[in-house]
Amino acid sequence: MTLFSELLQRDRVFDFLQPPPDFSSRLDTRHGPVLYVEDVTVSFDGFRALDALSLYIDDGELRCIIGPNGAGKTTMMDVITGRTRPDTGSVWFGSRIDLLRVPETTIARGGIGRKFQTPTVFPRHTVAENLELAMAADKRVWPTLFARLDSAARDRLAEVLELIGLGHLGHRAAGSLSHGQKQWLEIGMLLMQNPRVLLVDEPVAGMTQQEMAQTGELLQRLAGRHSVIVVEHDMEFVRSIARQVTVLHQGSVLAEGTMDQVQNDPRVIEVYLGE
Ligand code: ADP
Ligand code: MG
Repeated sequence: MTLFSELLQRDRVFDFLQPPPDFSSRLDTRHGPVLYVEDVTVSFDGFRALDALSLYIDDGELRCIIGPNGAGKTTMMDVITGRTRPDTGSVWFGSRIDLLRVPETTIARGGIGRKFQTPTVFPRHTVAENLELAMAADKRVWPTLFARLDSAARDRLAEVLELIGLGHLGHRAAGSLSHGQKQWLEIGMLLMQNPRVLLVDEPVAGMTQQEMAQTGELLQRLAGRHSVIVVEHDMEFVRSIARQVTVLHQGSVLAEGTMDQVQNDPRVIEVYLGE
């Protein structure tokens, strides 16, 4: 299958026909966080999945979000990415972009990338081709795909391959990778679009101990250049990477601080760690 026919199979292809979002020039983080979630409430049939949730993410920070099942973690990601619209509250990307007024597809292409739990790589294409396909979702490099990658794009591809630890596997079929390697490839595919904020849902589920350690290193390397928000259940993993941890419970923030601070918070112990 050619790259082009593969692309056409993705419903995202119609995104290419739309003008790229003009986020880069409007995004303003000079005076504060890259992401503001303020007083957000989401109700499903009267049940509050998010209840006056407020959360602020700084530019370049690595934030871990933990909380028991049903705490609202996935709903929070849905709100940030525009999949779910809150009943009340506000969500801002920097101080100037009101995300509640931006369509979901525009948010995704405009700098907020989301990695779901199940990897969705193209198994019959090579690792490098998968990264190329991901770059194709970025309109700015679209024309180069029909010729060949220009040198800047080639450099970026090589850089991302190294970053995700697959530098030696560029020519391997993605389908032959291990579960962990597929997860890294998918993170790489998001990186090809240069997201400012990366949302990652349970990145180490199903991974071996060694893959978990490598994933932790990868996420830590990404912080600084990107803001990384990690939702994770595995406490040992969170402890190994966490700087700032937010504990969600019943749709709002129960505690926030270092892992030591939240682990010693009696309210956290009661609702979560003591489970
Ligand atoms: P978490 O990811 O922390 O486990 P969720 O955000 O998935 O929590 O869910 C929070 C609460 O909202 C849960 O009680 C869940 O059952 C409920 N919920 C989530 N999505 C829906 C939906 N589409 N319809 C009804 N209830 C939902
Ligand atoms: Mg969830």
